[in-house]
Formats: sequence, structure tokens, C-alpha cells
Amino acid sequence: MSKTITLLGSTGSIGTQSLDVIRAHGYKVHGLAANSSVDLLLRQTAEFQPETVCVVDESAAERFRTLVSGLSKPPKVLSGKDGLTQLAAEPADIVLNAVVGIAGLAATLTALENGRDVALANKESLVTGGYLVTNAARKNNVRLLPVDSEHSAIFQCLQDAHSAKTLEKILLTASGGPFFGKTRQELEHVTKEDALRHPNWSMGAKITIDSASLMNKGLELIEAVWLFGLPAEKVQVVVQRQSIIHSMVQFSDHSILAQLGVPDMRIPIQYALTWPDRAPCPAPELDFTQLKSITFDTADEETFRCLAACKKAIGKGGLAPCAANGANEEAVKLFLQDKIPFLKIGELVEAVVDSEPFGQPYTLSDVYECDAMARSYVNAHV
Ligand code: NDP
Ligand code: MG
Repeated sequence: MSKTITLLGSTGSIGTQSLDVIRAHGYKVHGLAANSSVDLLLRQTAEFQPETVCVVDESAAERFRTLVSGLSKPPKVLSGKDGLTQLAAEPADIVLNAVVGIAGLAATLTALENGRDVALANKESLVTGGYLVTNAARKNNVRLLPVDSEHSAIFQCLQDAHSAKTLEKILLTASGGPFFGKTRQELEHVTKEDALRHPNWSMGAKITIDSASLMNKGLELIEAVWLFGLPAEKVQVVVQRQSIIHSMVQFSDHSILAQLGVPDMRIPIQYALTWPDRAPCPAPELDFTQLKSITFDTADEETFRCLAACKKAIGKGGLAPCAANGANEEAVKLFLQDKIPFLKIGELVEAVVDSEPFGQPYTLSDVYECDAMARSYVNAHV
């Protein structure tokens, strides 16, 4: 079936893989958005001919306006944060949100409030504003289709609505990242180059650092709680070094279902777009003759404090996960600028989560206020 997609964050790792899937299926692209990668966005615009393009960064948008005027069918060009939400509200069958960070939250909410199904890669939307996002989906009777590979795996295992009612536990798999098995002492002097070397997945810089610190698994645990409605204690992190099992679910009879495949994000991206159907995918099949073993380990929360801090945050509830996320976004930025050591990321995230009681419920402006508080805490403590 032909669908019309708006793709936010089209120039990133998920964005470009999404366009591979969109190209393979001949879907129509209504809108594209990025922050400032104007040259790639121009090539994408020439190929996919969207009606609307948003360039969030204002000076990049000026450059883009000049460049697109040379195209045979130039799109409408929006800019700024408001441009991104305006695009999210425009008609499309699915808004695929692959923006990185809390910058994606307002667009997720706007798309849902305007009756669009949202394919969600931007896990930070659920971590920072899970209460608002899930309410908006419910009130407008629209769907959140998970793109994150673990959540897609869980979603796929829950397609039988009858057994889904007896879901008892989620087994959220983790690769363990490049620093699996290392002690805090060994991690004291690791560099950003070490942290950016993920063993199984090729991803954007921020999520790659999050994978090295296990913050990504903490964010995903919070994401799973919002998407699947189980308490955090019922989401168990299982280290699966080869990233072949993308997650598992356990039912009341202690039967377990898993979803397996090569570590290629085009499979979960495609499932979010074709759901409830399946279709041939550009990703390769899993070759069991080459697969030597599938191993399991436990996550080391003493060393990787980000995971412990995220568990604490979802336990506290309210805006605590938003604070953890804001502290992490700021700390990762400082780590990538060589301004803080790797272990400091976890220490800062944990300190911010411990700093306030964080009541609930909250509004969107409370979310932004909390995010700003967490970021200034980090900058005041480096
Ligand atoms: P990238 O850094 O590769 O891409 C981020 C995209 O967001 C780019 O298109 C970028 O534009 C755009 N962007 C950045 N800042 C803003 C902003 N302020 N407003 C609007 N757009 C902005 O990230 P990934 O593709 O790796 O990750 C995207 C999301 O998907 C994240 O939430 C991540 O956690 C999640 N995810 C990613 C996976 C992966 O395999 N990469 C797996 C599972 C989840 P520009 O190029 O102009 O900077
Ligand atoms: Mg994931």
C-alpha cells in the first residue's frame, strides 16, 4: 500500500536508512527536516521531491532557500523550531521522528495532536515527556510505532493481542557497547574515539556514546515502560553481545518469545512503516552458518552508573527521567568536546537525578524548565 511519510531528522543515521526503506517501497515523501546538513538535504529534496522541507538552523535555512530555488520543483521551506512543529502537523500517513535529543519532543506531540501516527526513533520524546506523549496518542486515537530495535522486537512479539494481555516481563537486550567487562579504573582515561567505536551498530555520535555508557539502555528501559505499560521492575536488561536477539517478552505461563535478525536498523524502521504488514526488506538475512554463538551476560550497573541513574529516575517518576536525559545530553556534548572524562557523564546524570524530588504531573513548559535546570546543573559542576 502506498503511504505518505514525513521524515524528521532525514540527514542522520536513522534518517538516511529510512530513506533506503522509503525508496525500496516507493512511498511518497511529504516532508523532510534536518538541523543544518544543507547539502545532503538538497540531494534528498531533489530525489524525493517533498512538498515541504524544514531546516531548523536559521542561517542554514537561508542557504537552503537559495540552493532549492534552482530545482525544477522547489519545496516550501520552513525554518526554526516552529518550522519543525509546523511540518509535523502537515498531512501525512506517518510522521517518522528521527531527530536526536529533546529537540524532537515538540514535533512528536504536534504530530499526535494533529491525528498523525508517529513512527518513533526519537526515544528522548518518551523519556522527557512520556506522560504527555502517551496521553496525546490516546486522546487522538493515533499510534506510536516503535523504531528503536528493542522496542520494535517487543512490539513484534506482542502482535497476538490475546497473549499480549498476559505479558509479564520484558527482557530488554543490550550489546554492552565497546566497554563491556571494563572496570571503572580502566574507563578513567578512555577517549571519545574509543567510545565512538561501537562493536555492532553504526549510529549517530550521541547514541553511540549513550551505548558506551549504557545510558542508551537506561533511556530504553524508560521508553519500554511508557510504550508497553509494565512497571520498571518488570523490564530486565540482558546483555546479548552479538545484537542478534533484539529483545524478548515473557508471558504469564513463563513462555518467552524473541525477535531475531541482523543488526540493521532498516528492519525495525520498515516494520514501523509497513505495520501491520510485512514486506521484503533491503536488509540482509541472518546467516546461521556464520553465527558462532549467542551469549548472555548481566549488565554492570556499578561501573555504568547511567543505567542505575535511569532506573532511579523512572522509580522517582514525574520529571526525573527528563532531568536524567537533560544532564546526559549536556554531559555527552561536553565529553565530545574533550571537556569532561567519560566516567563523569554517569556521575553527573546520577547527581542530577538525586538533586530533587521531581513531582508529577507536568506540562510541556515544566519539561523544558526541568531540562534547562539539568543542563545548568551539569555546566555548574564540571
Ligand atoms: P544522528 O545524529 O545521526 O541524526 C540526527 C538527525 O536529527 C539529523 O538529521 C540532524 O540534522 C537532526 N537534528 C539534530 N538536531 C536537531 C534539531 N535541534 N532540530 C531538528 N533536527 C535536528 O542521530 P541518529 O540517527 O543516530 O539518532 C536519531 C534518533 O534515533 C535518536 O533519538 C536516537 O536515540 C534514535 N535511535 C537511533 C538508532 C541508530 O541506529 N542510529 C537506533 C535506535 C534509536 P543535521 O544532520 O542537520 O544535524
Ligand atoms: Mg535501541
